[in-house]
Amino acid sequence: RFIALEGGEGVGKSTNLRFVTDWLEARGIPYVQTREPGGTPLAEELRELLLRKREEAVDPTAELLMIFAARAQHLARVIEPALARGEWVICDRFTDATYAYQGGGRELDRALIAQLEQTVQGDLRPDRVLLLDLDPDAGLQRAASTGAADRFESEQLAFFQRVRAAYLQRAGSAPERYAVIDAGRPLEEVQRRLGSELEKQISR
Ligand code: C5P
Repeated sequence: RFIALEGGEGVGKSTNLRFVTDWLEARGIPYVQTREPGGTPLAEELRELLLRKREEAVDPTAELLMIFAARAQHLARVIEPALARGEWVICDRFTDATYAYQGGGRELDRALIAQLEQTVQGDLRPDRVLLLDLDPDAGLQRAASTGAADRFESEQLAFFQRVRAAYLQRAGSAPERYAVIDAGRPLEEVQRRLGSELEKQISR
């Protein structure tokens, strides 16, 4: 099973990621936990380059290509081998983040993203995308309080509204692959929902 965990800033992705891996751990299910951009030494270097603050504005297409370069490496070295071994892959962000941040946020052409997705991934898609959804107003407040907002603090709320809208649009276009989870609900409720989503993946 290939599961991606997605969401905007401050939706509680880290806490809920831990819940997912604890859940698998408790059931003795072998899994690999990884993240994007990143997940291999080379891809993590690309991540550092992407997230580093610099004077030079990063061209959105350059950013997009670096993300897909990291993804190609990550797929070849980590994700595909794990799936071939029959292990679960739990990925903190995947291509939906590219549609959301580079497509929605940076307003790049979705057709270009889809082209790169096809080139880099072929037909490989996550079996299930767990989308933690939260109004960016609330999310940014949470992210700021944990210091997680760094590079993006200065960005406009509108950017994050576009990110959220793009995520929801993706989910709406293929409801069978997405679980949209209201991250504004109490944590135990969010995690009950995550648990039932994982349960469904076992019995598939
Ligand atoms: O997942 P995490 O929050 O650690 O991601 C680090 C940063 O990279 C986030 O602030 C996110 O907004 C940004 N990002 C991005 N484009 C992506 C994936 C992540 O701008 N495709």
